[in-house]
Amino acid sequence: MKTEFSLAQLADPDIAEADKILRACVHCGFCTATCPTYVLLGDELDSPRGRIYLIKEMLEKDQAPTAEVVKHIDRCLSCLACMTTCPSGVNYMHLVDQARVRIEQRYRRPLAERLLRKMLALVLPDPQRFRISMWLARLARPLSVLLPTPRPSATAGLIPRIKAMLALAPNRLPPAGPAAGSVFAPLGKKRGRVALLQGCAQQVLAPRINQAAISLLTRHGIEVVLVRDEQCCGALTHHLGNDEDALARARANVAAWSAEAAGEGLDAILVTASGCGTVIKDYGYLLREDTAFAADAAKVSALAKDITEYVAGLGLATTARQDNIVVAYHSACSLQHGQKITDLPKELLSKNGFVVKDVPESHLCCGSAGTYNILQPELAGRLRDRKVANIASVKPDMIAAGNIGCMVQIASGTSVPVVHTIELLDWATGGSRPALNTQA
Ligand code: SF4
Ligand code: SF4
Repeated sequence: MKTEFSLAQLADPDIAEADKILRACVHCGFCTATCPTYVLLGDELDSPRGRIYLIKEMLEKDQAPTAEVVKHIDRCLSCLACMTTCPSGVNYMHLVDQARVRIEQRYRRPLAERLLRKMLALVLPDPQRFRISMWLARLARPLSVLLPTPRPSATAGLIPRIKAMLALAPNRLPPAGPAAGSVFAPLGKKRGRVALLQGCAQQVLAPRINQAAISLLTRHGIEVVLVRDEQCCGALTHHLGNDEDALARARANVAAWSAEAAGEGLDAILVTASGCGTVIKDYGYLLREDTAFAADAAKVSALAKDITEYVAGLGLATTARQDNIVVAYHSACSLQHGQKITDLPKELLSKNGFVVKDVPESHLCCGSAGTYNILQPELAGRLRDRKVANIASVKPDMIAAGNIGCMVQIASGTSVPVVHTIELLDWATGGSRPALNTQA
């Protein structure tokens, strides 16, 4: 694609990067076929190629984004299916991230939307605030029937968003998991030492996921540390275009993990929420211009691993094979498109006795996508229903996924239990049976 940035514009490293990405696009349109929003809406401007043109124009003209541009960028899930499909290696992720930041900096959204986004950015990354908000949402949920039912629209107003938030709140919250700073000693001979990302929403909604990871890891000789000064990885605010917040969190985590690695050492930083893993693996890029943090950020990104990548190297000792359980494996976009981890979780589950079924249209997002199911509830609901129908077609006993956002989204549309891949692996290797509730 030909670009027309001025030399002055190209002096900005972000614009230079955008120029490189845009020039790689040959506008073949292969990406449109696998883009969930294009599949649903059939509008070129809701396809990756259409969005690339919109972003190109916005950056080249160096103007405030128009409402039309914002509408189509907001509808993008950042699922990255387009990156998997693209034959030219276009890094759509870095391009759309840049567009979101520009929108946040230069476009004035309506007041209600600004307040909603601010509230999400304040609440979701903070486990204490998130816990309180879940309790309040649960109390308020019965009142949602009093809210009017707006006509379905791909452009959501405030009421459907409030309803979506209330609907996603769980019926009950489990007790909090282990505190930051905890260290879990390995059973038997020590084979390694890892940090386990504590997560923000996940530690409130499903602390059992990291408990299963700790159980499996320590049983296989790995010491696990929950690093004290760690924060939310920044993915939630990053996807809201709030780079200031996201980069501050990235820096805090790089400092905390680097200190831990320099102290007692770390073989890896393990992540059980693939949405977080994708962003942490990108810290090196996000902080590349920050001379104080760039080198350590690159090291942190190199240490970051999805939990399945790490346990694959442990030689799991299967003690309790579950040969008759049919598991539908939901491939989270952040895992399959963001981190290119596709077959490994399924192979681990199969090796440990589960009957693993692929889900039709597995490349399509479930509609969770960070805060997407709150900000774009109508599109997210359609994607969830499509995903749940595809899952039902393989008649599973359980659904496994590697990302809490997907787990909550899918569980809100099915009565089949939804568990994390690591819970099943822990169970098959001598840990507890996963709690088979239908809420993530
Ligand atoms: S598939 Fe890649 S090269 Fe083709 S239009 Fe999409 S982004 Fe551009
Ligand atoms: S990230 Fe997903 S929703 Fe966005 S353009 Fe690419 S395929 Fe479409």
